[in-house]
Amino acid sequence: MTTTPLRLLIHGASGRMGQALLRLAADNPALQVVAAVTRRSPAQRVVDGVPHFASSELAGAPQFDVAIDFSLPEGFDPVLALCVERGAGFVSGTTGISETQRQALIQAAGRIPLVWASNFSLGVAVLDELVERAAAALAGWDCDIVESHHTQKKDAPSGTALTLGAAAEKGGAHPHYASLRAGDIVGEHLVQFTGLGERIELTHRATNRDIFARGALFAAAQLPGRAPGSYRVRDLLDGAS
Ligand code: NAD
Repeated sequence: MTTTPLRLLIHGASGRMGQALLRLAADNPALQVVAAVTRRSPAQRVVDGVPHFASSELAGAPQFDVAIDFSLPEGFDPVLALCVERGAGFVSGTTGISETQRQALIQAAGRIPLVWASNFSLGVAVLDELVERAAAALAGWDCDIVESHHTQKKDAPSGTALTLGAAAEKGGAHPHYASLRAGDIVGEHLVQFTGLGERIELTHRATNRDIFARGALFAAAQLPGRAPGSYRVRDLLDGAS
């Protein structure tokens, strides 16, 4: 039996994440990239069978089921608006979005299913859940979050550390943060709960950026058929099991 592939629009296609998404999608027969959108006019209209469009041509992109956006905050609004207009799902990992853009996501979630996440790794989605459970069970223990990244990373603490901290707070903990910047570390997050005479350490280590692209493709595949709403990667893992 053959099934119709999921039609994807990849926004930010010339970036590091966009390139990883195109490469991984090409290996998956259940996915079809119908539009790769780059900031500037593409040198070639079709690359490896994938039609390319400039962001100024976004409105003319063919119909798609889900858009995956890993671009910059200035590219975010038009692609979200297009998804709402077309009734398509929206998956975005673009960081640094403004409060106004967060509000636009909330509005859009009333019309379409969407996922925005600061970290699309499936391991971090599970860690998030473990942290909330540990915090709820370990009232009164100290909670510390130590994140390590490469020296080019400017923001600190990382968005992921803050997301994990929010999970700890939801469980009743009051996390403290520490940041390390060294060499080419892709990303490490240690969430440590310390009591009297004992300690729990929950660690996630990213060794390859493909994990974020794989997580975004996983999220995209989970959206069709879902009710409008804002989903966490964690929610989609529950649905997939
Ligand atoms: P990058 O700089 O390599 O690529 C960004 C791309 O977006 C560039 O190709 C740029 O041309 C394109 N772009 C910018 N404005 C655009 C517009 N208006 N229309 C279309 N394309 C536009 O960066 P990257 O490493 O690929 O990361 C992209 C984004 O994803 C960043 O915000 C980064 O922080 C984020 N990111 C998130 C995760 C996650 O898991 N959530 C993981 C890695 C990166």
